Amino acid sequence: MPLTVRPRRKRCLRIFVTLLSGLLPVVLGSVILYMQAERTLQQSARQTAEEALRQFELMLDNTAQAARDLLPLAGQPCENVKLALREQVTRRPFVRSTNLVWDNNLYCSSLFGDFKEAVNAGDYHEGKLWLMNGNPVTPNTALLVYRLNDGPGGALTTLDGYHLSNVLRLIGRDTLLLLQVGDNWLSMQGQVHSGAPPQFPVAQSVLASPHHGFHVSAGFPQGQTWRYMANEYPPLFSLLMFFGVVAGAIGHVVQKRSTSPSHEMLRALEAGEFIPYFQPVVLGTSKKWTGAEVLMRWNHPKEGLVRPDLFIPFAEHSGLIVPMTRSLMQQTAALLGPLSSTYATPMHIGINITASHCRDLDLVEDCREFLAAFTPGSIILVLELTERELIEPTEITRQLFEQLHTLGVMIAIDDFGTGHSSLGYLRTFNVDFLKIDQSFVAMIGVDALSRHILDSIIELSAKLDLAIVAEGVETQAQADYLTAHHVNFLQGYLFGRPMPGADFISALSHH
Ligand code: C2E
Ligand code: CA
Ligand code: CA
Repeated sequence: MPLTVRPRRKRCLRIFVTLLSGLLPVVLGSVILYMQAERTLQQSARQTAEEALRQFELMLDNTAQAARDLLPLAGQPCENVKLALREQVTRRPFVRSTNLVWDNNLYCSSLFGDFKEAVNAGDYHEGKLWLMNGNPVTPNTALLVYRLNDGPGGALTTLDGYHLSNVLRLIGRDTLLLLQVGDNWLSMQGQVHSGAPPQFPVAQSVLASPHHGFHVSAGFPQGQTWRYMANEYPPLFSLLMFFGVVAGAIGHVVQKRSTSPSHEMLRALEAGEFIPYFQPVVLGTSKKWTGAEVLMRWNHPKEGLVRPDLFIPFAEHSGLIVPMTRSLMQQTAALLGPLSSTYATPMHIGINITASHCRDLDLVEDCREFLAAFTPGSIILVLELTERELIEPTEITRQLFEQLHTLGVMIAIDDFGTGHSSLGYLRTFNVDFLKIDQSFVAMIGVDALSRHILDSIIELSAKLDLAIVAEGVETQAQADYLTAHHVNFLQGYLFGRPMPGADFISALSHH
């Protein structure tokens, strides 16, 4: 019959849970660190963009001021104003050249004096700024031109791209930074490009100048967040790893602890480590062996022989007691069944049953299978139900005990005197035997009150026509007392201790 009590917790599931509890803090911590790193980079990019913006504003303010100073001179002959143009170049920081325009023609320059070149207003972003990639004087060198207009007159002042790319390089350092003016943009290398500027994959921050119509864009290359974490967070990662290992270890221990007793018992059941011991029960009159109680022992590979009170409570709690009892009955049938044809009188075999075994009708099938292993009439199967754990009468238990009765199975109330079974209870479950608890037997000749209870139990059982078994008989005086009071069966160390199957069989032949 398959064990349906509790599915075995797979080894790989345990490993999985252990790994999960170890990985969880590491993963969660890494996510938090990642978010923190992103935030830091975001702040850093924004600060860099703000600083660059401030510097460019300052440079353009100077350039614009030069243009403002010169605009009133537009239209005057170049000869008269060229010194004023050169003065602005000398006085104003960052200004590289100054020029005057009349009717869209550049007619006077600080460098050449008289000059002639057409001015195309369309080249200028918002009519004001033109980021160009050099001019005939310095080809391939970035140049920012500022244009100021008033009617036909105008002033053009230029700012050397060298200053601009210097700002990008010095402020940018670890950050990618670019300056955008209309459709053109300047890279950190000092090159002017046309078209849309590149998007920075990490923490991009774009700021617009409030006064001069240019943009500054800062950001980081792909993978910068991880690189930042690798550089800045090694101590935190070590801490995360430590927490991961501790959490994994705790997860492992908790699982082991929570599954240990039942898991260990299921293993033991499959390994056949629960074995029957037999304690003889003798007739009160002749002291001849008339049967035995089957007592479970755990033959543990490391702990040796384990007493039932140390593991039966766990077995009951986990529900394993049912398949364990079934296994015990099968082993008992296999041991004693083949010899049953030689028994002179029917042998009583007592099996301890818990209330949880009485919740369905499977017990009937277990008993039928047990009885089938013996020669008919050679055995009386007695199920011992402890009085400490009373069975609730339901429709199922009514059917169960009726079918057991039909099978010829007898019922004993174990540890009688320690619980609260009523007369009605004894009738409902068709009880045949009362097993007087050993505590009362031990008090014979010691405690008068216990002896009175013992006498009352014996009297009661006689009135109810129930047979009596006295447990825990250790002395001759106890045996004499019980025999004198017509107790039908005796069980105790005086007649035999619980013993392995082979010893019981060989002892049986002598008795
Ligand atoms: P129990 O059913 O009352 O079994 C009698 C206990 O008294 C046994 O202890 C037995 O070894 C012990 N005993 C017998 N004669 C004497 C004696 O003269 N003096 C003393 N001091 N003790 C004596 P054991 O084998 O350790 O079993 C303890 C309890 O474990 C049992 O009490 C029973 O409640 C439970 N148990 C044992 N086997 C099974 C089983 O297969 N199924 C279930 N459900 N419970 C079992
Ligand atoms: Ca018992
Ligand atoms: Ca008992």
